[in-house]
Amino acid sequence: MSVDCLFCKFVAREIEPQVVAESETAFAFRDINPQAPTHVLVIPKRHVANAAELAQHPADAAGVLALAAQVAQAEGLNTGYRLVTNTGADAGQTVFHCHVHLLGGRGLGWPPG
Ligand code: C5P
Repeated sequence: MSVDCLFCKFVAREIEPQVVAESETAFAFRDINPQAPTHVLVIPKRHVANAAELAQHPADAAGVLALAAQVAQAEGLNTGYRLVTNTGADAGQTVFHCHVHLLGGRGLGWPPG
């Protein structure tokens, strides 16, 4: 846990997000500023800054992807959904605890902005 990290505070329930699901290694909650009918953030419980750091912890990376798939199924996203991980300033990352955006419930354009 990183003491100054907002998402670590969510995992510890020091601040209560709208929790969707959790597993031993991963945690899912609704984005406060949803960009689609379903917009859930799936994060590793372990504090890592981005996807590159998450890759150094394969069990945690697998846990994030497994929880994302579980949430997508529970949300009924049978016709498709998107997983996005912004990494670094050019990609628009604003919270430096790795998170995967799970977006679905509407048609999603490509390429993203
Ligand atoms: O990829 P990026 O770092 O920009 O995404 C951060 C996400 O965290 C944003 O979609 C933002 O709405 C979300 N957020 C949140 N609750 C907060 C602060 C940010 O869901 N308290």
